[in-house]
Amino acid sequence: MSKGTVSINAENIMPVIKQWLYSDKDIFVRELVSNACDAVKKYRWLVANGQAAVDETPDRIDVIVDKEAGTLSFSDNGIGMSEEEIIKYIAQVAFSGATDFITKYAGDDKEKGADIIGHFGLGFYSAFMVSDKVVIDSKSYTDAPAVRWISEDGMEYETEPSDRETRGTTITLYISEADKDFLNLWTVRSTLQKHCAFMPVPIFLSEVTKPEEPKEGEEPKPPKEPEQVNDTNPLWMKRPADCTDEEYKAFYHKVFNDFEDPLFWIHLNAEYPFNLKGILYFPKIRNEFTASEGVIKLFNNQVFVADNIKEVIPEFLMLLKGVIDCPDLPLNVSRSFLQNDGYVKKMAAYITRKVADRLVTEFNTKREDYQKYWDDIHMFVKYGCIRDQKFYDRVKPALIYKTTAGEYVTLDEYINRNCPDDENKTVYYASDDKRQAQMIKLYTDQDKDVVLLNTLIDDDFISHLEFSGGDSKVSFKRVDAAADSLTENGETDETARLKLEGMFRKAMGDDTVDVQLKPFKDEGMISMITVDEQNRRFTEMSTRFGRTGMSLPEKRTLVLNEKHPLVKWLESAEDDDKTQSIAAQVADLAEMARQPLVADRMVEFLRRSNALLTQLVEG
Ligand code: ADP
Repeated sequence: MSKGTVSINAENIMPVIKQWLYSDKDIFVRELVSNACDAVKKYRWLVANGQAAVDETPDRIDVIVDKEAGTLSFSDNGIGMSEEEIIKYIAQVAFSGATDFITKYAGDDKEKGADIIGHFGLGFYSAFMVSDKVVIDSKSYTDAPAVRWISEDGMEYETEPSDRETRGTTITLYISEADKDFLNLWTVRSTLQKHCAFMPVPIFLSEVTKPEEPKEGEEPKPPKEPEQVNDTNPLWMKRPADCTDEEYKAFYHKVFNDFEDPLFWIHLNAEYPFNLKGILYFPKIRNEFTASEGVIKLFNNQVFVADNIKEVIPEFLMLLKGVIDCPDLPLNVSRSFLQNDGYVKKMAAYITRKVADRLVTEFNTKREDYQKYWDDIHMFVKYGCIRDQKFYDRVKPALIYKTTAGEYVTLDEYINRNCPDDENKTVYYASDDKRQAQMIKLYTDQDKDVVLLNTLIDDDFISHLEFSGGDSKVSFKRVDAAADSLTENGETDETARLKLEGMFRKAMGDDTVDVQLKPFKDEGMISMITVDEQNRRFTEMSTRFGRTGMSLPEKRTLVLNEKHPLVKWLESAEDDDKTQSIAAQVADLAEMARQPLVADRMVEFLRRSNALLTQLVEG
């Protein structure tokens, strides 16, 4: 038996580790199980290289809860350690970075603790966060005798011979009173499921229980078999060609607890320039409120690192659900490191590119399917375009627009069909196909397509498109934004226009409204009201961000059809009560074609309508 102290600085270190990891205690499970995995893999490597005798015993790790003894143990049949190795690896090497650790991070925020602890090779010591005593029993794959290492505080230790007979290591934690929860099978299972669900060595969980007294005449019940808690060969590690759709779906349901099927998925499988594997799923996003529910799980060699690390995964991809495994990323590095790391940036760009390329392929090869789920993915795609110019540039050919007739067209298709020869290409859109039905009809009657852009993100999206559209010079106009395509060119009779402007300004109680007089393509139409597009968008955006004071006064124009008999009649009539009534009625009807009247105006409209009808009867 021998005694020792792990390192001269240990007294300073243990309290810091304990304090830091306080918020993320269950990380010790990950550290101990991944050490066990490494030990098993090291042994396999030695066998494969002829440096250890072949042994057919299946690899395994056992996690055993013993409530009675108050212990939680982690047992593996890996490479094992001799006494010298324990002293070297656990007591000395483990603390080689410790001084660094203290000087660099002591006094820094605690959150970072969990991120960097393993970085300094202190993983094993996380066991002391929840333990009054830690015991290691180990037998090396060599002839070295089995050894036991005991320490109560992680600083002073004793070693003695161990009765362990088989190759491998058992780490036994005597769980402290305050952390008794880790003697609860359910807690241990869910911690294992969180951190170790896909580790590459089978992990079995069991509990030491007293055998039940058999009832009279019955055979004693056999003890419960340990249950395997992990999937050692997760789908993302397989070659895409070897995976079936059913497997992809089943994996999705299980990992993301989503009973709906995903729309489609991308299996990332790169070795160069990045060692990166993973599966990204496009979930059904039915409305804007569920849009933020995605989750991307990051793994390092099948060891779970964290959810939604935004430094590695571009923010807009967080709307997806998926797993990403990159063994080249240090498992436990601080986020500030990731943020500034060129490698991480390149990897994020790579993932973005893959997603964009996949969308384009889907569009090119399965356009019909793609159109079917466009309504589910368009918000994600548009958000991505706004957030990431490179994504936009790449995904551009796969951007489609749903028309009010239910068709899907690309921007080029829209332009070719509707305005191939115009210098400035205009896409007409509706933001509400019911309220704007009348205006939409004006366009569709003339064989012009109107696209439907009816989600919050569309405003930002089209502004982005106009701004960064490059050579194509496309602008978007809502169906009530201009009368250009509904009217014909012609000289305006300025005298008549001025007279009508005066008449309508009075009738509408609005002396800023512009009045235009134009021949309409649709002869039966009397008038329409248009509202300047940019002006309206600015006001809408200000309202959305709560800056009501910033709204611009609506720039409205009343356009009258100079060919219509009623307009002609008004042109030559006296400006008396009757013409005022008719003008007000014409203006209200034009307003109603684009949006419902406000309450006061509606009351007045109904009153006036009744009066006009009565006058008709009375002559
Ligand atoms: P790290 O795993 O980051 O190197 P640890 O403190 O967790 O740091 O472990 C220190 C060393 O102890 C490991 O590198 C390994 O050599 C050894 N070790 C830890 N756990 C085991 C185990 N279960 N079997 C064999 N060796 C182990």
